[in-house]
Amino acid sequence: MVRVFGRKRVVILGGGPGGTMVANHLARRFNGSLTGDRVEIVQITACTKHTYQPGFLFVALGDAPLEHFERDQASLLLPGIRLVVDPAESIDPQAGHVITESGAVYAYDYLIIATGSYPDPSAVPGLAQGALGFYTAEDAVRLREALGRFEKGRIVLTVDVPHKCPVAPLEMVLSLDAYFRRMGRRHDVELVYTYPINRVHSLPQVAEWAQAEFERREIRWETFFNVDRVDPEQRVVYSAEGGEYPYDLLISVPPHRGAPVVAASGLGDEQGFVPTDRYTLRGAGLENVYVVGDATNLPVSKAGSTAHYEADIVADNVAAAIAGEPALRRYDGKVFCFIEAGDDRGTYIEFSYTRPPRPAPASVMLHQFKMAYNEMYWLSARGVL
Ligand SMILES: Cc1cc2nc3c(=O)[nH]c(=O)nc-3n(C[C@H](O)[C@H](O)[C@H](O)COP(=O)(O)OP(=O)(O)OC[C@H]3O[C@@H](n4cnc5c(N)ncnc54)[C@H](O)[C@@H]3O)c2cc1C
Repeated sequence: MVRVFGRKRVVILGGGPGGTMVANHLARRFNGSLTGDRVEIVQITACTKHTYQPGFLFVALGDAPLEHFERDQASLLLPGIRLVVDPAESIDPQAGHVITESGAVYAYDYLIIATGSYPDPSAVPGLAQGALGFYTAEDAVRLREALGRFEKGRIVLTVDVPHKCPVAPLEMVLSLDAYFRRMGRRHDVELVYTYPINRVHSLPQVAEWAQAEFERREIRWETFFNVDRVDPEQRVVYSAEGGEYPYDLLISVPPHRGAPVVAASGLGDEQGFVPTDRYTLRGAGLENVYVVGDATNLPVSKAGSTAHYEADIVADNVAAAIAGEPALRRYDGKVFCFIEAGDDRGTYIEFSYTRPPRPAPASVMLHQFKMAYNEMYWLSARGVL
């Protein structure tokens, strides 16, 4: 149990993995002393539901319904944590408070920003009208319906940066290959994958692994393809480099931005991500403000595992600060990602600021680990795993 000097309020913005794990880890560290007169943990979020986003891949492919990956946010929080479903409209670090859409004002001693990242199809002309996606619940359901109707032709999957889960587009195109082969229709479908830089993934080791998979499965790819515009009527996607692909079905991973509240509060960089110290996870130049998960501007993958490792460190450091002790733990950039490779096979990568990833050969066992983690995620969210 952490000793506390005076009453402290920790406000956590966001009810995704980052915000939920910080809340639960902190509650555990205070071990039952969440009486409100000593430490109060308030989680402010935008939605009563908590959705496990890696499930969108399986929803889009028709392997599971969306509801399988949803829980009530309240059911994931340890007793004593106060849940407020009322999106934050502004953050004022000088005044030390957050104002929500309903006009309520929440003063804080410590603030954790865990408001995530979001695809922004409006950043590319024609993308919203011409492309489907799988990075939101609604998009994943729409893609499932479109795949159900798709008979033959060219499917183009374009990727823009930055985006969360850097391996998910690879998982989607490899899974589509397996999906159409399973149905005996692969010869009717041409699969094309585009990527903005000079290889098929930002991490060279992952790009090498994926390119070998693409060659083996006859998936066509094009690099240096920065999506410039889409003509939804002619069904053509154009790149800034002068490339173009006519398509029958366009699936896009649009560029991502931080939550609007970050930009509205003047706390974001040009993409709406909060400048964050890569080791301490404090908001740069901000007093008693920490940032977790996709909301940071850190040069690491925007992934649930990143949020998981960061949440543990931030909870320890905030608990130490509340107890008047030095905040000693540092984040080393650790990320862990399973990669679904189709055909019930999978691999994984683990890396950090200094350690590059080395994808293991894809196997059935690693696929099964990924499937098992999909079910165990809810324990992670509760801070048990
Ligand atoms: C298709 C897909 C596949 C993925 N696969 C993997 C994978 O295999 N492995 C992996 O590690 N990661 C994966 N990810 C990424 C992972 O889901 C995210 O990185 C993770 O959810 C980030 O957690 P977060 O808490 O930072 O943000 P989020 O989960 O996005 O949560 C943000 C929270 O902030 C809330 N919020 C937003 N605005 C406000 C506001 N104004 N006020 C209050 N609350 C607000 C939202 O309601 C939400 O609760 C995948 C993502 C997608 C889309």
